[in-house]
Amino acid sequence: MADQRKPTAKGKPAGKKPGAARPAGATPAGGAAAPGAQPGRTVAPRPRGGEVTTRETEGYTSLIEPRTGLSEVLAPVGGFGVTLSNMFRPTVTEQYPSEKVPAKPRYHGRHQLNRYADGLEKCIGCELCAWACPADAIYVEGADNTPDAQFSPGERYGRVYQINYLRCIFCGLCIEACPTRALTMTNEYELAGPTRAGMIWEKQDLLAPLRQGMLAAPHPMVEGTDDTAYYQGKITGPDDAQRAWVAEHRPDDPTLPGGAGVEAANVPGPTAAAQAALAAAATKQGSR
Ligand code: SF4
Repeated sequence: MADQRKPTAKGKPAGKKPGAARPAGATPAGGAAAPGAQPGRTVAPRPRGGEVTTRETEGYTSLIEPRTGLSEVLAPVGGFGVTLSNMFRPTVTEQYPSEKVPAKPRYHGRHQLNRYADGLEKCIGCELCAWACPADAIYVEGADNTPDAQFSPGERYGRVYQINYLRCIFCGLCIEACPTRALTMTNEYELAGPTRAGMIWEKQDLLAPLRQGMLAAPHPMVEGTDDTAYYQGKITGPDDAQRAWVAEHRPDDPTLPGGAGVEAANVPGPTAAAQAALAAAATKQGSR
């Protein structure tokens, strides 16, 4: 269908041009009246960049009482009252890392793989913690206990156990999922390192230290018991048969009676040792 608009002198249709919205004769912002402006008609000036315009709302009444007298004079310095009142209170700045403040009892810190009272490991390698982890930070490989190498009560133990602290969000879902309470969280929060690989903690880094009287695994379960007795907390320490087994298979074990003691057996894993060295260096630097 042909265009019915009247052609201009150049042959273009006389359509609406850009910027032609202002009525003829209206006064442009901050400028003189346009040629042919209608007398008495004005356009409100547009605010320039950075300017704030206020618009009165019809029927609005402020509920804030206007200040008068001395209160009006002191109003500009009223905010300093908070500053002045705090100047005479004791300083509460924590001097970390030179002074470490203990975390709250239920703080979610680094994980720990616990042991039973006779030294056997509680982890059975079921991988439930890895499945529960929303950040995919835990990797577990289970293996079978054998008569020559029994690390935990029952059939299975955790052969490989890793937690990637670059991924962990410390939510605690893993410890909720653990059926044997093998995995718990400590109050330890110093978890920083110079390398990404150094943030992956292995089983030997996470295992709870042996306590006095415990016998280092592997060794058989307490004679005449099963894994249920362990879960029910009926095991209070190693028996003579276990000590005899360890003496036969590892005569130099430091946790045997007369041995070097649990301090000699509690050698931290390489990642835990590196972390401890870093924390000690930071503490030393902070106390200078
Ligand atoms: S820590 Fe607990 S949940 Fe994770 S593999 Fe070991 S037993 Fe299973």
